Amino acid sequence: MEMPEQPRSRRQTRAAILTHLLQSGGSFRPPLAKAVRLSEASLSRILFDLKAEGLIEEVRRPAPYVGGPTGLVSLDATVALAALELTGQWLSVGVGGLSGELHYTERVPLPKRPTVETVGRVFGEALALLRDWTRRRRIRLAQIGVTVPGLGRLSEFGNPIIPCDVGRISDMSGELFADVPVAFTNSVVAHATFHRCRTESYPFSGAHLFVFVGQGVAGTWMDDPIEDDALQPVELGHMVFGTEGPRCRCGHHGCVEAYTSLPALAELLGLREAELLAFGNEWVTAVPLTSRVRQELRQRLFRLGLAIGNTLNVKPCRGVAISGWPSLLDEEDRKAVIDGIDACLLGGRKLAQVSLAFVPPSNGNDPQAALAFAAFCLARCGGMAAASTEAA
Ligand SMILES: [Zn+2]
Repeated sequence: MEMPEQPRSRRQTRAAILTHLLQSGGSFRPPLAKAVRLSEASLSRILFDLKAEGLIEEVRRPAPYVGGPTGLVSLDATVALAALELTGQWLSVGVGGLSGELHYTERVPLPKRPTVETVGRVFGEALALLRDWTRRRRIRLAQIGVTVPGLGRLSEFGNPIIPCDVGRISDMSGELFADVPVAFTNSVVAHATFHRCRTESYPFSGAHLFVFVGQGVAGTWMDDPIEDDALQPVELGHMVFGTEGPRCRCGHHGCVEAYTSLPALAELLGLREAELLAFGNEWVTAVPLTSRVRQELRQRLFRLGLAIGNTLNVKPCRGVAISGWPSLLDEEDRKAVIDGIDACLLGGRKLAQVSLAFVPPSNGNDPQAALAFAAFCLARCGGMAAASTEAA
């Protein structure tokens, strides 16, 4: 049975197709038509345009459907996107494609105590590198994605994590790359996008909460990618669990972030933060845990669970994906997170029908998250560049 076509604008229909291809990595025509609720004839007309514009490609291939060979549709590998990802130590800059392959990356170090001035200069340097690299190869960028830790609600009072003036950076980008749209987002939103688009068999397709445990602890509400509020940052890391607790970088004491971020984990393990980062994901086997440390670790994970449960009490949803160091622990240790959520939700997780999934950590893969975000921006506007600056 054919699904009825929904009234949507041309941009929305194109966005539905492109975001579906981005999240699936490619699709045959029949399931693509079904997923975006179009007849195959309508889909065919739009694919014709998208192909002519160089946004998609199609390979004739035998498909497991009645009716013989059909086209495997995927995003065009020649589309070039730029990614700028600000981390605590450096600004990562790169050029890559819609499927996540990187053709160029460079890191410009940040000073020890960054200011709006010096961070602005680092962005200037990175954008100049980007311009030189693309100009030498006559590459035209389709979209620039920039990620900044802590960007969002708190930013109007000055970014509490890394000082930076987004308006000024946007102007610099406009001077060097006229007509290339640039979009800024919170790092956590970008990591959520990265997982949604690049994690094989990502556990959720509908609305869910993505929680990222890295340098900071934060979440993103994720919804249908073509909705205006498809990605909404959630500051769940600053839920306070006791004003006697450790000082948080936000200025308060006892935030869940102050107990469970990577810097807090390093301190608990008796390592400097750089040492912990140098281990990468191997710390979980390389660093032996005493029973006291393991006990404390579980208590902190329980608090993380409480923070997630509280967030779900405010805005219920059926799925939670957790990425970050807790995903590396064995089931027994991770259970503390689940117990925390259970203790907090009225009637527990089962009654609230919340399913939980741990996805691998993605910190340290810069600028992959910014690249995924740039791809998402291009797909979400249907490949039709809108205003030159938009914040997500
Ligand atoms: Zn805080």
